Amino acid sequence: MTQSLKPPAMEPAGLVWRDGVPASTRFGDVYFSRENGLAETRYVFIQHNHLPQRFAQLRAGQSFVIAETGFGTGLNFLAAWSEWLATRPAGDTGTLHFISVERYPLARPELEQALALWPELSESARELADNYPPLIQGTHRLVLAGGRVRLTLYFGDVLEAWQDLDFTADAWFLDGFAPSLNPEMWLENAIAQIHRHSQPGTTLATFTAVGRIRRALAEAGFDMRKVPGFGRKRDMLAGQLTDKDARQSNQPDGPVAIIGAGIAGTALARNLAERGRPVILIDQAEQPGQAASGNPQGALYVKLGVEYNAQTQLAATALAFSQRFYRRWQNQFWHPTGLLQVAGTEQEADRQRRFLARNQYPETFLQPVSPLQASELAGVDVPHSGLWFPGSGWLEPAKACAALADHPLIQKRFGFEVQAIRTEGQEWQLSDGNGERITVSQLVVAAGHQTSAILTGTGELRLKPIRGQISCLPESDFNLPQTVVCGTKYLNPALNGMAVTGATFDLRDSNPELSQESHQANLDGLEELLPSIRRAATTPVSDLQGRVGFRCTTHDYQPAAGPLTPLESSAPSTGNHLYLFTGLGSKGLAWAPLLAEFLADCLTYQPRCLPLPLIRRVAPERLYRK
Ligand code: SAM
Repeated sequence: MTQSLKPPAMEPAGLVWRDGVPASTRFGDVYFSRENGLAETRYVFIQHNHLPQRFAQLRAGQSFVIAETGFGTGLNFLAAWSEWLATRPAGDTGTLHFISVERYPLARPELEQALALWPELSESARELADNYPPLIQGTHRLVLAGGRVRLTLYFGDVLEAWQDLDFTADAWFLDGFAPSLNPEMWLENAIAQIHRHSQPGTTLATFTAVGRIRRALAEAGFDMRKVPGFGRKRDMLAGQLTDKDARQSNQPDGPVAIIGAGIAGTALARNLAERGRPVILIDQAEQPGQAASGNPQGALYVKLGVEYNAQTQLAATALAFSQRFYRRWQNQFWHPTGLLQVAGTEQEADRQRRFLARNQYPETFLQPVSPLQASELAGVDVPHSGLWFPGSGWLEPAKACAALADHPLIQKRFGFEVQAIRTEGQEWQLSDGNGERITVSQLVVAAGHQTSAILTGTGELRLKPIRGQISCLPESDFNLPQTVVCGTKYLNPALNGMAVTGATFDLRDSNPELSQESHQANLDGLEELLPSIRRAATTPVSDLQGRVGFRCTTHDYQPAAGPLTPLESSAPSTGNHLYLFTGLGSKGLAWAPLLAEFLADCLTYQPRCLPLPLIRRVAPERLYRK
């Protein structure tokens, strides 16, 4: 079983039911106690980390971080979630972060079956199941309970997880099967990592009372106590970190200014506002989504690499995150019709063959389809095989930007053309040509291809604009699909009698006007994918409607999101409080939700939803010419 697995698939849990509780055939141990799993969880993990008291003492809007070894059925997580909601006042913007690692994840039906044992948790169990990520290697962030609870679920080995993730825990749930049955989980380097991610006052609790574990945790610096165990178990361990020096923290909490109200800027503004952070959203246009994010339709789409490397992991987890994120706006601006990535050229057919030979993705995420299956799914003749993404679809991007920007904590400063950025002490001061000023301590530039022009003085950034023209095809003249079809071009289902196709990819072309050649290039490319797309009478190319936008791409075609330290000494230098969010190319709809979540984590000093290798992959510093 193990040998035939290909990335990014995860090894299955090997779950069986014994005496009415789930157990692991792999480890020969139960997931939770036979007596009363929920009561045991509450006793061991919730009570012995003093969570009810500690939650109650938090300031308004303050967050709390729990880390766990072994996600299993998610029971501990749901118990912590229910305690958080019961203790924190309704409407509080603080987040319970729960960071957990799982190398052998349960399949969704197994998780649902296990959690069905606890009717009192049924609501959160359903929400967890509905948001349960595809079982693919990597870090998955789930935003739950309207953002009051955030789960960072690392599918992989515990040691790698603690090396890759960036967080400081307030409490630990050490729950990795009995040490005798699963020694790996309790190795000294695993314990050293637990210490590394802790601070003074961090507590831990575990069901085990094994002397070796107690000594190892004590040697790592935890003040350990043996306390009575749950039910018939004699003892368990609880501890607290006392040895480390307290960290200095000086975290800004005033408004964040975001320049650029496209999909990147509006997704970030919304994310911050929902975390209780005021935002000043600035754009030179009078409305959001007027530049590259202004097309009437756009596909939710990434291209997954043949190798499952950091880049592919970023694309796959970003796509899965965005599919969950947009669900809230289904049938408003999000249309989850599914998406076909067809092999319209011999080169792409070869790439897809190699991709399928090397990788194994869950069927809920993507499936290979024959030309016949593709045709049935699309409802039009598709003479190519391809990949089917059942959870994808298309969006109305301009509408999405407007909806995202609509929040009481987002102050809109539209029609504001940033002309100068200066530092005033620890603050950024933005001014336009009319003497208007905006002063903030944290600034994000999400201005697409205009980012370089706005950030003069930071050092040259390797960003380039790429012209893209879309064409609008009238339903009366074209056989339009019922799902998104993409290849070298994409085509959406009809919206108000028209479907968007495109886009051209015109490097070194700055023409903002529609061109007939671009319409023709779109139609030619589309006919290669879908030869029977045109009906007999077809609107002449010169009559087609369309739109021109300029996407912003980086030298390595990967997005940029994170802090930017200016290179030149003459540049503003208020440390890490300048952030960049750009370079999303033609995949902005798929990148924006996860990268906005990541930037909001950074700006609010909360655990990062991306592991360090992916943080490095998107780091804006790489845009400086070496
Ligand atoms: N906390 C869980 C719950 O609430 O249902 C129960 C956890 S169960 C006792 C231990 C979990 O640790 C199992 O799901 C197992 O697959 C996972 N695990 C074991 N070894 C691991 C490793 N090396 N890395 C990551 N996870 C591991």
